[in-house]
Amino acid sequence: MLHRPLDARYDTMSYQRCGRSGLLLPAISLGLWHNFGEVDRYTHSRSMLLRAFDLGITHIDLGNNYGPPPGSAEETFGRILASDLAPYRDELIVSTKAGYRMWPGPYGDGGSRKYLLASLDQSLRRMRLDYVDIFYSHRPDPDTPLEETMTALDQAVRSGRALYAGISSYNADQTRRASLILQSLGTPCVIHQPRYSMFDRWIEDELIQVLREDGIGCIAFSPLAQGLLTDRYLSGIPEDSRAALPHTELQREHVTEDVIDRVRGLADLARARGQTLAQMALAWVLHKPEVTSALIGASRVAHIEDAVAALDNRHFSSDELERLEGILRV
Ligand code: NDP
Repeated sequence: MLHRPLDARYDTMSYQRCGRSGLLLPAISLGLWHNFGEVDRYTHSRSMLLRAFDLGITHIDLGNNYGPPPGSAEETFGRILASDLAPYRDELIVSTKAGYRMWPGPYGDGGSRKYLLASLDQSLRRMRLDYVDIFYSHRPDPDTPLEETMTALDQAVRSGRALYAGISSYNADQTRRASLILQSLGTPCVIHQPRYSMFDRWIEDELIQVLREDGIGCIAFSPLAQGLLTDRYLSGIPEDSRAALPHTELQREHVTEDVIDRVRGLADLARARGQTLAQMALAWVLHKPEVTSALIGASRVAHIEDAVAALDNRHFSSDELERLEGILRV
C-alpha cells in the first residue's frame, strides 16, 4: 500500500548545503547499515524508514555490502521505495558505496574501475533505481591508482548512474589528492563520509581543514559511536543491542568500565541541557560548521524521533564545552 506521507514533513528538519555544492542535506540522515537486512523484520524496517521520511529525513545512506547478507539492505530499501515511496523519489537523496568485498574473485573488492562500476549496476538493480544521488568510493584502495578510482566515480556521474561523487574514510592527504583529480575531471568531490563522534575525533587533526578548503561537505557516520553514546549500555549490555549481536562490529568487549564512566558523565551533562545523551551527541557533531549532516543508525522508530528532536538545542555554551572536554579527557 502506498504510504501517505505527513504534509508537515518539512516543518521541523533543517537542511544544510553540502560543501560548496547546490545539494542540501537534512541535518539528520538515516543509514541502513544495520536493521534493514534480510535477517531483520521487514515490517519493522519499513516503519523506521517511513517515519524518517515523515520527519523530513530526505537522505538515506546505503552501501553495497549492508545487510546481512551483503546487498540485502539495498533490496529492503528498493522494496519499500517501490511499495510506499515511489511517487516521492525526487524528494529523496539516496547514496550507496563500493569498496569492501562483495563477490568472489579479483573484481569484487577494492577501488578498480571494474569493481566500482559493476557494483553500482548491481546496487541499482537491487534498489530498483535508475540512478543514485551520491556514489561513494567506500574506502581508499592502496593497490589501485587513485586516478582510476576517481575516474570511475566521474564515469558513474557522466553515465547518469549517479548525480554526485563522494569518498568515505579517506585521510586528509588522500582526500586532497582525490579532490584535485575529481576537480580536473569536472566532477567535484561533493561529500566526504568519515566516522566522527565525541569518542572518535580523528578528522579534527587535518581532514576537516581540507574539507573546508576544498568546499567538500561532511556527513559524519556513527555519531553515536554505534550506540555507546546513548543510554543503551548504562545498566549492562541488553540482549537486543548491537554489542550483543554476532554480526556487528561493536562487540561486548568495547563496552568497558572506562567507556561507561565517561558515558555517565556525559549523560549528566546532557540532562542538564535538557537532552538525552544521544541528542547531545548529535548536537555536538552538528555544532561543527564543517559537518553537513549526522548520519545515524536506528533499531527502533523512537531512536529516529529522538535524533530529530536533538535539533531543538544545538548550541553549546563555552562552559558546557569545557565540561564536555573534561569528561572526554578522563
Ligand atoms: P550510530 O552511531 O548512530 O549508532 C546507531 C545505533 O545506536 C542504533 O542502532 C542503536 O543501537 C543506537 N541508538 C540510536 N539512537 C539511540 C537512542 N536514541 N537511544 C539509544 N540507543 C540509540 O550510527 P551507526 O553506527 O549505525 O552508523 C550510521 C550509518 O553510518 C550507517 O547506517 C551507515 O549508513 C553509515 N556508516 C558508514 C560507514 C562507512 O564506512 N562509510 C561505516 C559505518 C556506518 P541498537 O541497535 O543497539 O539499538
